[in-house]
Amino acid sequence: MSAAPVLLHHPSSLDHDTGAHPEQPARIVAIERELVSRDYLGFERVGSPAVERSVLEAVHPARHIELIERVAARGGARIDADTVVSAGSFTAAQHGCGGAVSLVDRLLDGRAPTGFSIHRPPGHHAAAERAMGFCLFNNIAVAARHALDAHGLERVMIVDWDVHHGNGTNDLFHAEPRVLFCSIHQSPLYPGTGPASDVGSGEGRGFTVNMPVAPGSGDREFRSLVDHVVVPLARAYAPQLLLISAGFDAHADDPLADCRVTDDGYAAMARSLRGVADELEVPVGAVLEGGYALDALARSVAATMAVLGGVALTEDGVGVADVSGQALERLADFWPGLA
Ligand SMILES: [Zn+2]
Repeated sequence: MSAAPVLLHHPSSLDHDTGAHPEQPARIVAIERELVSRDYLGFERVGSPAVERSVLEAVHPARHIELIERVAARGGARIDADTVVSAGSFTAAQHGCGGAVSLVDRLLDGRAPTGFSIHRPPGHHAAAERAMGFCLFNNIAVAARHALDAHGLERVMIVDWDVHHGNGTNDLFHAEPRVLFCSIHQSPLYPGTGPASDVGSGEGRGFTVNMPVAPGSGDREFRSLVDHVVVPLARAYAPQLLLISAGFDAHADDPLADCRVTDDGYAAMARSLRGVADELEVPVGAVLEGGYALDALARSVAATMAVLGGVALTEDGVGVADVSGQALERLADFWPGLA
């Protein structure tokens, strides 16, 4: 674990031009500015490669990829009410997926103990054949699929703490026991999916864990679910790789949702996840999703990186309340040791 943590990024993230839109290039500018002021927190900076087409096609059918490519080549268009493709979007999305895939490669071959892939557009709403919710390709799903296909992993755990339900990731691995998908998200809120009753299907039953929280939920609720549900699940599942769908729109300052997580709350969740990953001796990597309050986003990304990179591992003042009893009860059928 002597190697430095790795930051995957690429200037093409700035070329995904969404116009007047909360998911804007200024998000990346704000994050980079904050990280420069903190000397990148000791992370090694690496330019993300474009994803290989075959790796992308393991999740998205060729016709979906070609649609995004064609729309971008024509100069762009609006895919739905809130999802935009511009001339630079296909290239940006290719590097976004490539960053997440390269992060997985580096974590699994031991080049980095931990890392963060920071790109836009985000990914977790993208379904196999549908761009939606600001997302074109599902970066973290492509990376997790690559971990199964190229590295032969049998257990990958994805923790999605974006305030919106990661419906794309949820559906892509719905019947896949090799990926344990856990999501904490505000309900009701876009996209309206992710009830606790959605536990996966077929062989994947029990390997989708949805934890909706009410508007107004903050550090207590989010951290409680991480510490009392996600961490015990990780111990039970023993993933070979832990990935975080790291959105920061549950922040109190965020304009798109109604939760109240603080900078310290994100650090606390990261600390718990890094802690269990260390305990299990597996790498942990984060992939940027949402987060639309620019200053809060930049600070929270830095707070998360500081924890993942090991420069802020001391305990914080965020209490660990146990409000997770109901979530545990629902899991009892699948994970009898937990409740
Ligand atoms: Zn979100």
